[in-house]
Amino acid sequence: MRQTQVLPASDPKSIRLAAEIIRGGGLVAFPTETVYGLGANALNPDAVARIFEVKQRPSFDPLIVHIATRASLDLLVQAISLGDHRLMDAFWPGPLTVVLPKRESVPDIVTAGLSTVAIRMPAHPVAQALIREAGVPIAAPSANPFGYVSPTCAQHVFDGLGDRVDLILDGGPCPIGVESTIVSMIGTWPEVLRPGSVTLAEIREVIGPAVRAAASQTVIAPGQLPRHYATRTPVTILAAQGARPAVQGQERAGLLAMSALSHIDDRFCAVEVLSSSGDLREAARNLFAALRRLDALGLNRLYAEPCDEQGLGLAIMDRLRRCASPNQLKVSEPSLHGNGSR
Ligand code: AMP
Ligand code: MG
Repeated sequence: MRQTQVLPASDPKSIRLAAEIIRGGGLVAFPTETVYGLGANALNPDAVARIFEVKQRPSFDPLIVHIATRASLDLLVQAISLGDHRLMDAFWPGPLTVVLPKRESVPDIVTAGLSTVAIRMPAHPVAQALIREAGVPIAAPSANPFGYVSPTCAQHVFDGLGDRVDLILDGGPCPIGVESTIVSMIGTWPEVLRPGSVTLAEIREVIGPAVRAAASQTVIAPGQLPRHYATRTPVTILAAQGARPAVQGQERAGLLAMSALSHIDDRFCAVEVLSSSGDLREAARNLFAALRRLDALGLNRLYAEPCDEQGLGLAIMDRLRRCASPNQLKVSEPSLHGNGSR
Protein backbone atom coordinates (compact mmCIF):
# COMPACT_ATOMS: atom_id res chain seq x y z
CA MET A 1 0.00 0.00 0.00
CA ARG A 2 1.17 3.50 -0.85
CA GLN A 3 2.38 5.44 2.18
CA THR A 4 1.36 9.08 2.44
CA GLN A 5 4.31 11.41 2.76
CA VAL A 6 4.34 13.66 5.80
CA LEU A 7 6.86 16.44 5.16
CA PRO A 8 8.02 19.35 7.32
CA ALA A 9 6.33 22.52 6.06
CA SER A 10 9.42 24.52 7.06
CA ASP A 11 11.36 23.04 4.11
CA PRO A 12 10.79 25.07 0.90
CA LYS A 13 11.16 21.82 -1.09
CA SER A 14 8.04 20.45 0.67
CA ILE A 15 6.05 23.53 -0.38
CA ARG A 16 7.24 23.20 -3.99
CA LEU A 17 6.26 19.52 -4.09
CA ALA A 18 2.88 20.26 -2.48
CA ALA A 19 2.19 23.00 -5.05
CA GLU A 20 3.06 20.60 -7.89
CA ILE A 21 0.63 18.05 -6.47
CA ILE A 22 -2.14 20.68 -6.26
CA ARG A 23 -1.50 21.83 -9.84
CA GLY A 24 -1.52 18.19 -10.98
CA GLY A 25 -5.00 17.58 -9.51
CA GLY A 26 -3.87 15.92 -6.26
CA LEU A 27 -4.77 16.45 -2.60
CA VAL A 28 -2.54 18.09 0.01
CA ALA A 29 -3.34 18.47 3.71
CA PHE A 30 -1.88 21.69 5.09
CA PRO A 31 -1.96 23.77 8.28
CA THR A 32 -3.94 26.96 8.62
CA GLU A 33 -4.31 29.10 11.74
CA THR A 34 -7.75 27.49 12.39
CA VAL A 35 -7.54 23.75 11.58
CA TYR A 36 -5.72 21.58 8.99
CA GLY A 37 -7.29 21.79 5.52
CA LEU A 38 -7.55 19.17 2.77
CA GLY A 39 -6.70 21.18 -0.33
CA ALA A 40 -7.27 20.78 -4.06
CA ASN A 41 -7.18 23.14 -7.04
CA ALA A 42 -10.53 24.94 -6.69
CA LEU A 43 -10.78 25.40 -10.47
CA ASN A 44 -10.39 21.67 -11.22
CA PRO A 45 -13.72 19.85 -10.66
CA ASP A 46 -12.11 16.38 -10.76
CA ALA A 47 -9.59 17.31 -8.06
CA VAL A 48 -12.37 18.80 -5.93
CA ALA A 49 -14.45 15.63 -6.42
CA ARG A 50 -11.62 13.69 -4.77
CA ILE A 51 -11.97 15.83 -1.63
CA PHE A 52 -15.62 14.74 -1.32
CA GLU A 53 -14.66 11.08 -1.94
CA VAL A 54 -11.80 11.01 0.55
CA LYS A 55 -13.77 12.77 3.29
CA GLN A 56 -17.02 10.94 2.49
CA ARG A 57 -18.50 14.41 2.50
CA PRO A 58 -22.03 14.79 1.10
CA SER A 59 -22.01 16.68 -2.19
CA PHE A 60 -24.49 19.24 -0.83
CA ASP A 61 -21.87 20.62 1.58
CA PRO A 62 -20.02 23.53 -0.10
CA LEU A 63 -16.28 24.13 0.34
CA ILE A 64 -14.35 27.24 1.33
CA VAL A 65 -11.96 28.58 -1.33
CA HIS A 66 -8.61 29.80 0.03
CA ILE A 67 -6.69 32.62 -1.64
CA ALA A 68 -3.43 34.43 -0.93
CA THR A 69 -4.06 37.79 -2.63
CA ARG A 70 -7.11 39.99 -3.18
CA ALA A 71 -6.36 39.97 -6.91
CA SER A 72 -7.63 36.35 -6.98
CA LEU A 73 -11.11 37.60 -6.09
CA ASP A 74 -11.62 38.95 -9.62
CA LEU A 75 -11.66 35.40 -10.93
CA LEU A 76 -14.02 34.06 -8.26
CA VAL A 77 -16.67 36.62 -7.33
CA GLN A 78 -18.92 39.00 -9.23
CA ALA A 79 -18.81 42.24 -7.31
CA ILE A 80 -17.31 43.45 -4.06
CA SER A 81 -19.22 45.99 -1.99
CA LEU A 82 -17.82 48.57 0.38
CA GLY A 83 -18.85 46.38 3.34
CA ASP A 84 -17.01 43.40 1.84
CA HIS A 85 -13.89 45.53 1.41
CA ARG A 86 -14.11 46.72 5.01
CA LEU A 87 -14.34 43.16 6.31
CA MET A 88 -11.38 42.08 4.21
CA ASP A 89 -9.32 45.11 5.26
CA ALA A 90 -10.02 44.39 8.91
CA PHE A 91 -9.73 40.59 9.08
CA TRP A 92 -7.72 39.32 6.10
CA PRO A 93 -5.44 37.52 6.16
CA GLY A 94 -7.08 35.72 9.06
CA PRO A 95 -9.82 33.41 10.34
CA LEU A 96 -12.79 35.05 8.55
CA THR A 97 -14.65 33.49 5.60
CA VAL A 98 -16.88 35.72 3.47
CA VAL A 99 -19.74 34.37 1.33
CA LEU A 100 -20.17 36.33 -1.93
CA PRO A 101 -21.93 35.90 -5.32
CA LYS A 102 -19.78 33.57 -7.44
CA ARG A 103 -18.51 33.79 -10.98
CA GLU A 104 -19.03 31.00 -13.50
CA SER A 105 -15.35 30.06 -13.31
CA VAL A 106 -16.01 28.51 -9.87
CA PRO A 107 -17.09 24.90 -10.53
CA ASP A 108 -20.51 23.94 -9.16
CA ILE A 109 -19.01 21.06 -7.20
CA VAL A 110 -17.12 23.58 -5.03
CA THR A 111 -20.28 25.46 -4.04
CA ALA A 112 -22.69 22.50 -4.04
CA GLY A 113 -24.58 24.20 -6.85
CA LEU A 114 -25.12 27.45 -4.88
CA SER A 115 -24.78 30.75 -6.73
CA THR A 116 -22.47 31.94 -3.94
CA VAL A 117 -18.94 31.03 -2.89
CA ALA A 118 -17.24 31.11 0.51
CA ILE A 119 -13.75 32.67 0.43
CA ARG A 120 -11.00 33.03 3.00
CA MET A 121 -7.46 34.38 2.99
CA PRO A 122 -5.64 32.41 5.68
CA ALA A 123 -2.86 34.08 7.66
CA HIS A 124 -0.81 30.92 8.34
CA PRO A 125 2.54 31.29 6.56
CA VAL A 126 2.43 27.70 5.26
CA ALA A 127 -1.07 28.12 3.79
CA GLN A 128 0.01 31.44 2.25
CA ALA A 129 3.18 29.94 0.77
CA LEU A 130 1.33 26.93 -0.65
CA ILE A 131 -1.42 28.98 -2.33
CA ARG A 132 1.13 31.39 -3.83
CA GLU A 133 3.39 28.60 -5.07
CA ALA A 134 0.46 26.63 -6.53
CA GLY A 135 -0.75 29.75 -8.35
CA VAL A 136 -4.40 28.66 -8.07
CA PRO A 137 -7.11 29.15 -5.46
CA ILE A 138 -7.32 26.13 -3.13
CA ALA A 139 -10.65 24.62 -2.08
CA ALA A 140 -10.20 23.09 1.35
CA PRO A 141 -12.51 21.72 4.01
CA SER A 142 -11.11 20.40 7.27
CA ALA A 143 -8.80 17.42 6.67
CA ASN A 144 -10.87 14.78 8.49
CA PRO A 145 -13.63 12.28 7.70
CA PHE A 146 -16.96 14.10 7.39
CA GLY A 147 -18.64 14.86 10.70
CA TYR A 148 -15.73 13.88 12.97
CA VAL A 149 -13.71 16.20 15.24
CA SER A 150 -11.57 18.58 13.13
CA PRO A 151 -7.76 18.06 12.93
CA THR A 152 -5.44 20.53 14.65
CA CYS A 153 -2.12 18.78 13.98
CA ALA A 154 -0.59 16.61 11.22
CA GLN A 155 -1.01 13.41 13.27
CA HIS A 156 -4.78 14.01 13.46
CA VAL A 157 -4.87 14.20 9.65
CA PHE A 158 -2.86 10.99 9.37
CA ASP A 159 -5.08 9.24 11.91
CA GLY A 160 -8.27 10.11 10.03
CA LEU A 161 -7.31 10.07 6.37
CA GLY A 162 -4.16 7.92 6.40
CA ASP A 163 -2.92 7.19 2.91
CA ARG A 164 -5.94 8.66 1.12
CA VAL A 165 -4.17 12.01 0.62
CA ASP A 166 -1.12 12.62 -1.56
CA LEU A 167 0.88 14.66 0.94
CA ILE A 168 0.56 16.03 4.46
CA LEU A 169 2.47 19.23 5.24
CA ASP A 170 3.37 19.22 8.93
CA GLY A 171 3.39 22.78 10.25
CA GLY A 172 2.87 21.96 13.93
CA PRO A 173 -0.30 22.58 15.94
CA CYS A 174 -2.85 25.15 14.70
CA PRO A 175 -2.66 28.36 16.75
CA ILE A 176 -6.44 29.04 16.88
CA GLY A 177 -7.92 25.54 16.84
CA VAL A 178 -11.55 26.22 15.83
CA GLU A 179 -12.82 26.82 12.30
CA SER A 180 -13.13 30.28 10.74
CA THR A 181 -16.04 32.62 11.38
CA ILE A 182 -18.29 32.60 8.30
CA VAL A 183 -20.14 35.79 7.30
CA SER A 184 -22.65 35.82 4.48
CA MET A 185 -22.75 39.12 2.59
CA ILE A 186 -25.59 37.91 0.34
CA GLY A 187 -28.90 38.81 2.04
CA THR A 188 -30.38 42.13 3.04
CA TRP A 189 -28.30 42.03 6.21
CA PRO A 190 -24.89 40.46 6.72
CA GLU A 191 -25.23 37.26 8.74
CA VAL A 192 -22.74 35.25 10.76
CA LEU A 193 -23.36 31.67 9.60
CA ARG A 194 -20.75 30.06 11.86
CA PRO A 195 -19.15 31.59 14.97
CA GLY A 196 -15.35 31.53 15.17
CA SER A 197 -12.49 33.48 16.68
CA VAL A 198 -13.50 36.68 14.87
CA THR A 199 -16.47 37.64 17.03
CA LEU A 200 -19.86 39.17 16.18
CA ALA A 201 -18.90 42.27 18.20
CA GLU A 202 -15.68 42.71 16.19
CA ILE A 203 -17.60 42.35 12.91
CA ARG A 204 -20.22 44.86 14.04
CA GLU A 205 -17.47 47.33 14.86
CA VAL A 206 -16.31 47.17 11.26
CA ILE A 207 -19.54 47.01 9.23
CA GLY A 208 -22.17 48.26 11.67
CA PRO A 209 -24.80 46.89 14.03
CA ALA A 210 -27.06 45.36 11.34
CA VAL A 211 -25.01 42.13 11.27
CA ARG A 212 -27.09 39.20 12.50
CA ALA A 213 -26.11 36.10 14.35
CA ALA A 214 -26.99 32.91 12.46
CA ALA A 215 -30.67 32.04 12.34
CA SER A 216 -30.13 28.46 13.48
CA GLN A 217 -33.41 27.15 12.02
CA THR A 218 -32.32 27.61 8.44
CA VAL A 219 -29.78 24.89 7.80
CA ILE A 220 -28.11 25.61 4.49
CA ALA A 221 -25.00 23.51 4.89
CA PRO A 222 -23.70 20.74 7.17
CA GLY A 223 -21.37 23.06 9.09
CA GLN A 224 -24.73 24.20 10.47
CA LEU A 225 -26.16 20.72 11.04
CA PRO A 226 -27.11 19.91 14.63
CA ARG A 227 -24.58 17.07 14.82
CA HIS A 228 -21.06 17.75 13.52
CA TYR A 229 -17.51 17.86 14.91
CA ALA A 230 -18.60 14.72 16.75
CA THR A 231 -16.79 12.14 18.86
CA ARG A 232 -17.88 8.48 18.77
CA THR A 233 -18.31 8.60 22.55
CA PRO A 234 -21.58 10.31 23.53
CA VAL A 235 -21.09 13.75 25.07
CA THR A 236 -23.23 15.45 27.71
CA ILE A 237 -22.78 19.15 28.43
CA LEU A 238 -22.98 19.95 32.13
CA ALA A 239 -25.26 22.70 33.49
CA ALA A 240 -22.37 24.85 34.72
CA GLN A 241 -18.64 24.84 35.35
CA GLY A 242 -17.97 22.86 38.50
CA ALA A 243 -21.34 21.03 38.23
CA ARG A 244 -20.81 17.30 38.59
CA PRO A 245 -22.97 14.59 37.02
CA ALA A 246 -24.30 11.54 38.82
CA VAL A 247 -21.99 9.08 37.08
CA GLN A 248 -23.89 5.77 36.84
CA GLY A 249 -22.46 2.71 38.66
CA GLN A 250 -20.59 0.96 35.88
CA GLU A 251 -20.23 3.98 33.61
CA ARG A 252 -16.67 4.80 32.60
CA ALA A 253 -16.77 8.55 32.18
CA GLY A 254 -14.37 11.28 31.09
CA LEU A 255 -14.47 14.99 31.91
CA LEU A 256 -13.65 17.88 29.60
CA ALA A 257 -12.99 20.76 32.00
CA MET A 258 -12.75 24.40 30.97
CA SER A 259 -10.29 25.30 33.74
CA ALA A 260 -8.28 23.70 36.55
CA LEU A 261 -10.27 21.51 38.95
CA SER A 262 -10.42 22.53 42.58
CA HIS A 263 -9.91 18.91 43.68
CA ILE A 264 -9.20 15.51 42.16
CA ASP A 265 -12.46 13.82 41.18
CA ASP A 266 -12.18 10.05 41.10
CA ARG A 267 -15.56 9.56 39.43
CA PHE A 268 -13.80 10.22 36.13
CA CYS A 269 -11.42 7.77 34.45
CA ALA A 270 -9.84 10.67 32.56
CA VAL A 271 -9.88 14.45 32.76
CA GLU A 272 -8.78 16.97 30.14
CA VAL A 273 -8.35 20.58 31.25
CA LEU A 274 -8.65 22.99 28.29
CA SER A 275 -6.92 25.89 30.04
CA SER A 276 -5.81 25.83 33.66
CA SER A 277 -6.33 29.60 33.91
CA GLY A 278 -9.67 29.49 32.05
CA ASP A 279 -8.28 31.42 29.06
CA LEU A 280 -10.67 30.99 26.11
CA ARG A 281 -7.97 31.27 23.43
CA GLU A 282 -6.01 28.48 25.06
CA ALA A 283 -9.23 26.46 25.49
CA ALA A 284 -10.14 26.81 21.79
CA ARG A 285 -6.61 25.81 20.75
CA ASN A 286 -6.82 22.63 22.86
CA LEU A 287 -10.49 21.74 22.28
CA PHE A 288 -10.32 19.28 19.36
CA ALA A 289 -7.10 17.55 20.47
CA ALA A 290 -8.57 17.02 23.95
CA LEU A 291 -11.82 15.64 22.52
CA ARG A 292 -9.83 13.24 20.33
CA ARG A 293 -7.72 12.02 23.27
CA LEU A 294 -10.83 11.38 25.38
CA ASP A 295 -12.58 9.71 22.42
CA ALA A 296 -9.66 7.32 21.93
CA LEU A 297 -10.11 5.88 25.46
CA GLY A 298 -13.30 4.00 24.60
CA LEU A 299 -15.24 5.42 27.57
CA ASN A 300 -19.04 5.19 27.91
CA ARG A 301 -19.63 8.92 28.14
CA LEU A 302 -17.85 12.26 28.15
CA TYR A 303 -19.08 15.14 30.29
CA ALA A 304 -18.14 18.63 29.11
CA GLU A 305 -18.17 21.79 31.18
CA PRO A 306 -19.74 24.78 29.40
CA CYS A 307 -18.08 28.20 29.10
CA ASP A 308 -19.62 31.68 28.92
CA GLU A 309 -21.04 32.31 25.47
CA GLN A 310 -19.17 35.56 24.99
CA GLY A 311 -16.62 36.20 22.25
CA LEU A 312 -14.68 33.06 21.44
CA GLY A 313 -16.84 31.21 24.01
CA LEU A 314 -19.66 31.29 21.44
CA ALA A 315 -17.54 29.31 18.94
CA ILE A 316 -16.43 26.81 21.61
CA MET A 317 -20.02 26.18 22.75
CA ASP A 318 -21.22 25.94 19.12
CA ARG A 319 -18.74 23.10 18.48
CA LEU A 320 -19.49 21.39 21.81
CA ARG A 321 -23.26 21.46 21.26
CA ARG A 322 -22.96 19.99 17.78
CA CYS A 323 -20.59 17.35 19.13
CA ALA A 324 -23.08 16.51 21.91
CA SER A 325 -26.17 16.53 19.68
CA PRO A 326 -27.81 13.11 19.37
CA ASN A 327 -29.48 14.39 16.21
CA GLN A 328 -27.35 12.46 13.80
CA LEU A 329 -27.17 12.82 10.01
CA LYS A 330 -24.47 10.31 9.26
CA VAL A 331 -21.15 10.53 10.96
CA SER A 332 -18.38 8.48 9.47
CA GLU A 333 -16.25 6.82 12.05
CA PRO A 334 -12.57 6.96 11.33
CA SER A 335 -10.32 4.26 12.65
CA LEU A 336 -8.28 6.05 15.27
CA HIS A 337 -6.06 3.09 15.79
CA GLY A 338 -6.05 1.16 12.50
CA ASN A 339 -3.74 3.07 10.19
CA GLY A 340 -2.97 5.73 12.73
CA SER A 341 0.50 4.91 13.92
CA ARG A 342 3.61 5.87 12.09
P1 AMP B 1 -15.54 23.34 6.43
O1 AMP B 1 -14.76 23.62 5.22
O2 AMP B 1 -15.77 21.89 6.69
O3 AMP B 1 -15.03 24.08 7.62
O4 AMP B 1 -17.00 23.89 6.16
C1 AMP B 1 -17.31 24.78 5.18
C2 AMP B 1 -18.63 25.34 5.57
O5 AMP B 1 -18.74 26.64 5.01
C3 AMP B 1 -19.83 24.61 5.00
O6 AMP B 1 -20.18 23.47 5.74
C4 AMP B 1 -20.89 25.69 5.05
O7 AMP B 1 -21.46 25.76 6.36
C5 AMP B 1 -20.09 26.95 4.79
N1 AMP B 1 -20.21 27.40 3.40
C6 AMP B 1 -19.38 27.14 2.38
N2 AMP B 1 -19.82 27.72 1.24
C7 AMP B 1 -20.95 28.36 1.54
C8 AMP B 1 -21.88 29.15 0.80
N3 AMP B 1 -21.72 29.38 -0.50
N4 AMP B 1 -22.94 29.63 1.46
C9 AMP B 1 -23.10 29.41 2.79
N5 AMP B 1 -22.26 28.67 3.55
C10 AMP B 1 -21.20 28.16 2.94
MG1 MG C 1 -15.29 20.40 8.58
